Amino acid sequence: MSDKIRLRFAPSPTGFLHIGGLRTALFDYLIAKSLGGVLFLRIEDTDQKREVEGAADKLIEILAWAGITFDEGPHIGGNFGPYIQSQRQDIYQKYNKELLAKGEVYPCFCTEERLTQMRAEAEAMKKPPRYDRTCRDLSADEAAKRIAAGEKYVIRHKLPLAGEIIVHDELRGDLKFNIADLDDYVLIKSDGVPTYQFASVVDDHLMETSHVVRGEEWLPSLPKNILLYKSFGWDAPKFIHLPLVLDKNGGKLSKRKGDVAVEDFRAKGFLPEALINFNALLGWHPAGENEIFSITDAIKEFKIEDIGTSPAIFNTDKLDYLNGVYIRKKSIPELIELCRPYLAENLALTSNDFKKTDEFIGKVVSLERERLKNLSEIGEHTKLFFVDNLEYDKNLLVWKKSTPEATKVNLESLFDFLDKIGDNDWQTKKLEESVTAWLKSNNSSVGDYLWPMRAALTGEKASPSPFEMADALGKAEVLDKIKKAIEKLK
Ligand code: GLU
Repeated sequence: MSDKIRLRFAPSPTGFLHIGGLRTALFDYLIAKSLGGVLFLRIEDTDQKREVEGAADKLIEILAWAGITFDEGPHIGGNFGPYIQSQRQDIYQKYNKELLAKGEVYPCFCTEERLTQMRAEAEAMKKPPRYDRTCRDLSADEAAKRIAAGEKYVIRHKLPLAGEIIVHDELRGDLKFNIADLDDYVLIKSDGVPTYQFASVVDDHLMETSHVVRGEEWLPSLPKNILLYKSFGWDAPKFIHLPLVLDKNGGKLSKRKGDVAVEDFRAKGFLPEALINFNALLGWHPAGENEIFSITDAIKEFKIEDIGTSPAIFNTDKLDYLNGVYIRKKSIPELIELCRPYLAENLALTSNDFKKTDEFIGKVVSLERERLKNLSEIGEHTKLFFVDNLEYDKNLLVWKKSTPEATKVNLESLFDFLDKIGDNDWQTKKLEESVTAWLKSNNSSVGDYLWPMRAALTGEKASPSPFEMADALGKAEVLDKIKKAIEKLK
């Protein structure tokens, strides 16, 4: 093995990128880049019952969106290809033959029915389901005859029958396993296709992987993997098993309980910066207090020994918080661009072309951005800016103990006052100053005027302030909406 740093992200193409997969890819990326190494993509599609069309392209696209790119992979090539396991069948056959010749593996002809029965019996006796090694001692001649006769078979790893194996995980140190607890597991299935256990070891060796980074759920495979490296006579790479990611109740993340596909988070309007920051914190923490960092900052500070081993909690409140932080870091022109797709429905509500301009959308977005947890909320939050004809009950206009009659009179005098304000003074601060000064000089109660004004402009109980609304909507529309409110009160 060379001393180069080479990491791989090795997803199975299921059609979407699981959020846990993004975490693995991110740690691969952070380790590779912090050590000045290479990150490559390998598509592990040997286990797929059914190939998902375009799944690899989708993975590459969504990872690039998140900010994770590769130095080698099926889409860009490299010196260690092919990078798609289904295209490496000849290679696996070659190494399978090598192990057969060495007597490290054996063909097993046991039928599916026999294995099922064996599993059921083990279960009934509360024992771990394990292959009883019937075919392990078949003579080479007999095995060859049965193969020639066309009998179906798998290839199993001939594990030592007893003893201990000590394996090393970079985070957990040395781990001892009793070999007798391991199964003579399958390396090549009856259709000739290798299992993950075989293909990943062969590929990690041939592709010169220096560090295997994968989830803790793979830890039980580690002794088998190490024994397979030994069977080949190869040095094993370093192994890093990332801590489990659990939901807030300590359960597995599942589709049923919420989003698990990165694509879903993107559609909801989570920013890649927030997802990356959040995912990095699922198992790692920079040395200082600061929890807000970019992928580039993280690369600078990253050290393998700082990765934790206790389960990380997928706290969606924290993700919302981080997303809000990154939304507020965006400039208004950037936010206009990012929010437009989420405003499509609102834009369809108005016949006023001005409301489709960046100028108007920019005002709306700057009023809302403090409150946004994700971009998709902008649609619902800002509907009232776009509706041409608001629908609301006239009683909404009436402040506390006031009456419809008094409210109508107040709105009429407010209309006349606002009508006289020039375009240059039509902005939030100035409007607020002039209207409050006017109310004060008349000894009028603020609520009796500003509540009906705000209600007339929004048709809602809660909204931005009447002056912010007035600024965004513009004088003509404000006067029109107040006029309609007066009509309602007649
Ligand atoms: N193909 C495996 C998965 O998708 C990858 C495990 C590994 O990285 O070795 O979970």
